[in-house]
Amino acid sequence: MDTIIDRCEAQGLRLTEQRRTIATVLEDADDHPDVEELYARASSIDPRISLATVYRTVKLFEEAGILEKLDFRDGRARYEDADRDHHDHLIDLHSGEVIEFVDEEIEALQERIAEKLGYELKGHRLELYGVPRKS
Ligand SMILES: [Zn+2]
Repeated sequence: MDTIIDRCEAQGLRLTEQRRTIATVLEDADDHPDVEELYARASSIDPRISLATVYRTVKLFEEAGILEKLDFRDGRARYEDADRDHHDHLIDLHSGEVIEFVDEEIEALQERIAEKLGYELKGHRLELYGVPRKS
């Protein structure tokens, strides 16, 4: 898989040193950070990076299709590498924890629904919201 930096370069995006640092932070993230979290990580590597720079860079990467913006209904936009393998999310409403899953039945069901409606499915997004069951 091409890195975020590779994909930026392939698209001709100009990468300043600060943008490179932010791209590396995004590359290393295996969670779903919001801008504040990305800023905390990036500024610990390079204290000159401002929150505004992180905002602008994330927006640029999102517009270039390199990042996917996620909304888990808590008013904070979160980001994940758009090139990651497809998966859906379950959000724990108590802890805010985000659990990733793939379910073949759901995938197949969505294909069937789209087909029934006369469409070829090009993608989907599914978020489940729940609280832990009392055992
Ligand atoms: Zn995810």
